Amino acid sequence: MITTRFAPSPTGFLHLGSARTALLNYLYAKHTEGKFILRIEDTDAKRSDKSLSAKIIEALKWIGLEWDEEYYQSERIDIYKKYAYQLLENGFAYRCFCNPDEIEKKTKNNIIWKYDKNCLKLSQDKIDKLLKDNTNFVIRFNVVNDGNKITFYDNVRGEVSFDKEQVDDFVLLKADNYPTYHLAVCCDDHLMGVTDILRGEDHLTNTPKQILIYNAFNWEPPRFYHLPLIHGSDGKKLSKRHGSVDTLFYKRMGILSETLVNYLTLLGYSPQENKELFDMSELIEKFDIKRIRKSYSRFDLKKLVSINSEKIRNLKNERIYDMLSEYEEFNRLTQGFNKEYILKGIELIKTRMPTLRDFFDRAKYMFIEPESYDEKGLKKYFKENTKDLLLQLKIELEKLDDFKETNIENSLRSLCSRLNIKDAELIHPLRIVLTGYTVSPGIFEVIAHLGKKVVVERIENARIRLSI
Ligand code: GLU
Repeated sequence: MITTRFAPSPTGFLHLGSARTALLNYLYAKHTEGKFILRIEDTDAKRSDKSLSAKIIEALKWIGLEWDEEYYQSERIDIYKKYAYQLLENGFAYRCFCNPDEIEKKTKNNIIWKYDKNCLKLSQDKIDKLLKDNTNFVIRFNVVNDGNKITFYDNVRGEVSFDKEQVDDFVLLKADNYPTYHLAVCCDDHLMGVTDILRGEDHLTNTPKQILIYNAFNWEPPRFYHLPLIHGSDGKKLSKRHGSVDTLFYKRMGILSETLVNYLTLLGYSPQENKELFDMSELIEKFDIKRIRKSYSRFDLKKLVSINSEKIRNLKNERIYDMLSEYEEFNRLTQGFNKEYILKGIELIKTRMPTLRDFFDRAKYMFIEPESYDEKGLKKYFKENTKDLLLQLKIELEKLDDFKETNIENSLRSLCSRLNIKDAELIHPLRIVLTGYTVSPGIFEVIAHLGKKVVVERIENARIRLSI
């Protein structure tokens, strides 16, 4: 059985790159009917706190991920300690009593610094004495430089080798008995039965150390997939400079979670079919681990928004309604209007909504009279006779018993032909008066939707407001 995991260190938000990592691990597990684990790597006591993990979990849930098991490394401290001591007893690791401040001083000015293995040379008597004196120590892995390389197979890059010479005697267990990332990650991946690790390529240089740990325990390492990082538009690693990298920012911006899932997945893996829109169930069904991208992909906000626009237009009105209801602005705007009216409004606007947020602006006139009219539009479409035309239209519309689209259209068109003017001469100013804008959904639908009372009122008010 395939078991994958997503193992974030809680930093306060879910980075887009990490969201993609989580997704690919999830899709692989689901595709193979395997297991997907969430493991919060919160052993860095200084930085980790439960509220930071909560934000990550909120974002993972928003993108629709579900996990079979959930762990917090901070609750497993004793396990790592036990394994660190096992390596110590078996001669793969040793106690290092060096003062951390001095080590830091030594490392400060060196780009590459390796611990000089001083404590490996301590006699047992000396060690016993230091222990008796309660001297603080860490447990380091003893990287024996036998001239061989550390080689492993990465399923994205192929065979990767590192000289042992380059690998420091890294710390496994800190003086406070907390494990380092390397120890905890190996113990957990082994104990949790993780078979496949998909993670950012920034972890590639960590892997040789982890391979040494696996070998020391005689554990079989999992399969590794180091994913090429996502880049920004300038070809550099995606970071704050390119815009927000917080996954939940995109929720606030009005991007659908299914859009983000769709887009991020395609940044990490190229499906066989030549199409762009997938939903989660298709992504799971079609996922093919062999098609993980081997080169960098670029995050393109415009592309994300265009996928979002497509997705919104294909959604059921009810779903859009539910999603919009999560926004304070929506509830304020639509307060007092019945659901049927709001749903019809969604129907009219959903083909013009790149993001959910666009509803607030583009559909505002459905709920409140426009505060202002498009300036350019006024100049362009308001002529001397406009006042008169609007007045006559108002009279015609008031006569309609059944205020439905076809009747409205017939009434306007026959008025225009009687007056011997083009329909557009009336439609353009009318649109501005009703919506404030020069573009809107079909004007007859808009009129029918607003209803006779509102339409008549707005025409009257416009005549006063514009003194026409
Ligand atoms: N906790 C690590 C991180 O957030 C990930 C560890 C891993 O995937 O091996 O970068």
